[in-house]
Amino acid sequence: MISMNLKLHPAAVIIVKTLQEAGYEAEIVGGAVRDLLLNLPSYDWDITTNATPEMVEPLFTDSFYDNEYGTVKVAGKHLKEQFKLSEDECDDSMIFDITTYRSESGYTDKRRPDKVVWGKTIEEDLKRRDFTINALALRVNSEEIGEKKLEYDCEIIDPYGGQEDIKSKVIRAVGVPIERFNEDALRIMRAIRLAAQLGFAIETETFVALKATVSNLKEISWERIGAEVMKLLATEHAADGIVLIANTGILEIVIPELIKCRGVMQGGHHTHDVYTHLIESLRGCSSSDPVVRLATLLHDIDKPTVVKAEGPRGVTFHNHEVVGARTAKRIAERLKLPKKDQDKIFTLVRWHMFHYDPRMTDSAIRRFIRRVGVENIHDMIALRIGDRIGSGAKTTSWRLTELQKRIGEQLYEPLSLKDMAVDGADVMKILNIKPSRKVGEILNALFEEIIEDSGKNTKEYLEKRIVELG
Ligand code: ATP
Ligand code: MG
Repeated sequence: MISMNLKLHPAAVIIVKTLQEAGYEAEIVGGAVRDLLLNLPSYDWDITTNATPEMVEPLFTDSFYDNEYGTVKVAGKHLKEQFKLSEDECDDSMIFDITTYRSESGYTDKRRPDKVVWGKTIEEDLKRRDFTINALALRVNSEEIGEKKLEYDCEIIDPYGGQEDIKSKVIRAVGVPIERFNEDALRIMRAIRLAAQLGFAIETETFVALKATVSNLKEISWERIGAEVMKLLATEHAADGIVLIANTGILEIVIPELIKCRGVMQGGHHTHDVYTHLIESLRGCSSSDPVVRLATLLHDIDKPTVVKAEGPRGVTFHNHEVVGARTAKRIAERLKLPKKDQDKIFTLVRWHMFHYDPRMTDSAIRRFIRRVGVENIHDMIALRIGDRIGSGAKTTSWRLTELQKRIGEQLYEPLSLKDMAVDGADVMKILNIKPSRKVGEILNALFEEIIEDSGKNTKEYLEKRIVELG
């Protein structure tokens, strides 16, 4: 038994205690334990218990039973009410998963166990988990008020050497690696994502097995693959993660278009082929948003499709941003990203070829912002920063700095129809017309004038123009 000063989530401790008081075993398990030992913040706290869902449910007000996984879910909001927790102790929006010990058998479809069997012991439950660092459980035996704060007397249950692997920064499958990847191919993606997330290496035997089973990924739904790709892109070592999925053959299945960029030379000042340029652009992208990072990774995706041997540089890539925007969107669609993220990726790739010239007028800057969208403009710059670094340049340039400054100035000017001093209702009232195409046409014509000259954005001027245009 060890006493530790771990930052346990108060609500997770309450769940464990409630289950223990009802006569069951309960532990905090999985990613939260791993992150605790790594001194990283944990976002989801999973609890495991020998109580079946039917026994767990009545213990927590407003909990609900998710049949598919044998999990009872409780929201922070309800825990707070039931156990009188303070605002600081528990966030309303958090969801705690309480899952009954499981022992699984038979995976004929390489996706999910043929049947879920309740396990009797925590050791049995840990055995079915993917990697040793995730097969750790923490049992809270008692809590006491220490010198200043609550201290817990905890015990770590670690039958597979997870703590040792955390120390040596290694991802190692629980049990026989090849069997584990054959059971569930999503573990292939999880291994790489975890390596990138934690900056860990994949242990040799695990890595060999992973490589040997990559083709099983074809059995996994695009939703689950897409979710892992996005999680990977959000990690600190995203670019290395993408290199890893390329070198293991995963990229060939997930984004084959990127593989086609290998060996496509770019001429001119470029020293990298398109593929390396894209990887290095991702590494240099200044946004941590995985959607923006994906757009950066894909921004030159169609250079191989449009490449022509001509011109002073030896090669040209005419219109690659036009074709590429469609391809990038298609990839985002394949990875099942929400529609708004697909559209954002399209826009960022479509307009990534912008040039800044100090002679550009303010209205030209406003047109550029309007085309890219106010909501995307900072991300467009983040992509460009990546693009520059990926071409071997410095982070920024006087041109880019000046453009950012000028964009900043224009963000206070009218940039969309809703920023105008008049709206559709005004047009209809003044001209005494019903909703129709004409209303939109007039608004657009007015907006064209305003984007040229923001000084014209007054009710007085615009009302006069409505009468003239009507
Ligand atoms: P994070 O929350 O940082 O994404 P995690 O390890 O907590 O990482 P979850 O998807 O939240 O990942 O899963 C919780 C736990 O469930 C894992 O730590 C692991 O023990 C187990 N687990 C999840 N997916 C699998 C899988 N495909 N095969 C075996 N065990 C799994
Ligand atoms: Mg988790």
